[in-house]
Amino acid sequence: MQNFQGVGVSPGRIIGSVRQMPKPVSEPPSGERLAADVAPEDAVARLKAAAQSVHDELKARADSASGDGKAVLEATALMAKDTMLLKSAGKLINAGSSAERAIWEAGASVSEMLHNLGGYMAERATDVLDVRARIVAELRGVPAPGIPSSETPFILVAEDLAPADTATLNPAVVLALVTSGGGPQSHTAIIARSLGLPAVVAAHGVDEIADGSEVYVDGAAGFVALEPSDEHRASATAWAETSATLAAFDGNGTTADGHLVPLLANVGGAKDAVAAAGLGAQGVGLFRTEFCFLERDTEPSVDEQAAAYKAVFDAFPGKKVVLRTLDAGADKPLPFLTDATEPNPALGVRGYRTDFTTPGVLERQLEAIARAASESEADVWVMAPMISTAAEAGRFASLCAAAGIKTPGVMVEVPSAALTAATVLREVGFASLGTNDLTQYAMAADRQLGPLAELNTPWQPAVLRLVQLTVEGAAQEGAGREASGGAGAAKPVGVCGEAAADPALAVVLTGLGVTTLSMTARSLAAVGTVLKTVTLEQAQELARLALSAPSATEAREWVRAKLPVLEELGL
Ligand code: PEP
Ligand code: MG
Repeated sequence: MQNFQGVGVSPGRIIGSVRQMPKPVSEPPSGERLAADVAPEDAVARLKAAAQSVHDELKARADSASGDGKAVLEATALMAKDTMLLKSAGKLINAGSSAERAIWEAGASVSEMLHNLGGYMAERATDVLDVRARIVAELRGVPAPGIPSSETPFILVAEDLAPADTATLNPAVVLALVTSGGGPQSHTAIIARSLGLPAVVAAHGVDEIADGSEVYVDGAAGFVALEPSDEHRASATAWAETSATLAAFDGNGTTADGHLVPLLANVGGAKDAVAAAGLGAQGVGLFRTEFCFLERDTEPSVDEQAAAYKAVFDAFPGKKVVLRTLDAGADKPLPFLTDATEPNPALGVRGYRTDFTTPGVLERQLEAIARAASESEADVWVMAPMISTAAEAGRFASLCAAAGIKTPGVMVEVPSAALTAATVLREVGFASLGTNDLTQYAMAADRQLGPLAELNTPWQPAVLRLVQLTVEGAAQEGAGREASGGAGAAKPVGVCGEAAADPALAVVLTGLGVTTLSMTARSLAAVGTVLKTVTLEQAQELARLALSAPSATEAREWVRAKLPVLEELGL
């Protein structure tokens, strides 16, 4: 029996058969020629057959998919039969190029041409690149890139997943996610939690597990075992029963003694919002607007944006919806805002900073938000990502005021904002702690890197201290206002990073004084259940304990030891 230890990022215990995510298709060498004994017309025929089979495969998947995934697959299937693409590849083959190199180059020029046309056509540019990779894989006889298609449920093992992979991930057949890379705040972790799939990241060595092997995955313990034992089988069966009891949240986030901590949802669009409302979310604490436009090469129009935002607001009439302006860059590039050649994108022009280099996009987004808000009944709050200084917060607040948005706020995800929270909060109405980026920047550890997963956890006492400083800054700002004759209530400070979805950490954050917790809707029931088992005073005691720990591991272990309910529920 072989075991793999990684970091558990989404609870659940399950047994299933492994499917490895194929490696990305490598570029055929530049100048690769057609073999001397192959006639160009035979190579063209082989290329057409490969393109046809890519088309048929994608079409079959589209026919059995629904929603966003169906649209993505249909558009990609059509591209496989694109005459311009195949004709220009044919010309290159007739000029002596290998079929693989020909389709690669033809794909690059068609993609560039579509990109330059702009609008809807530009949206198809990435589909061409996907299609050419699939055709090359077919010609080489290797598995197609992307999430494998299968009718039989499987445990997906990959290096890491990108946000765009979500569209084609079918939660009905994917039982669990295991990655060799990624960290607790990576998008694999976020996707897994939002789909309610058990997941383990940073599990070194899992890339070597053969397709079809049976494995046991424990998404809370971060453990993967080849050849599951009887004990593993019993624990998977027990989880199937417990998870049913953790499926529903009663819509009331509170400690045992009635200290209210509204539990909100993180959403990426209308579909998530409707699902979150159905799961009892008390509002939306983070609407990641960039998720509506990940496939776009060009800026969406104000009308298009307003429609996308209103669809989310409409799922929560009378409730709070915190929308975040486009957070493009680093792990979420948007071609119309980000520079793909930046040497260090996480420290680059991302989030609010894209307004420095591409002015106008933010103002147009605020116009769309204001319009959608005025046509809906949701209580819309708007925050900017990656705010580093009080001056940036002030400028964002004035842009919001100019657009008619009443409640501007900021994400606190850069340590400088946490350290100067009192002055930052003077400028805006609220703050929301983005613990994913706050951890990456406090620890100087890229959140996407598996080898740094141990550093990259919000249990790090340094990160918890930054959370505490932000809450203290809010109190100090409130007291300052009171001293000068104004109302003295501290402005709200919520958490919308993945930390809020960890039931033990949710208790600690409550003890540190955060006012709301926002998470993937699937975690609401678990967090709500555990929160109800402690009083505010006990939560404060656990927060002190975590802050005093010498390491993230001890902080987590010490707190978990005081919350036996976690073990009972398999969380
Ligand atoms: C965060 O950084 O914690 C956050 C919520 O934003 P994102 O994960 O989208 O960067
Ligand atoms: Mg962030």
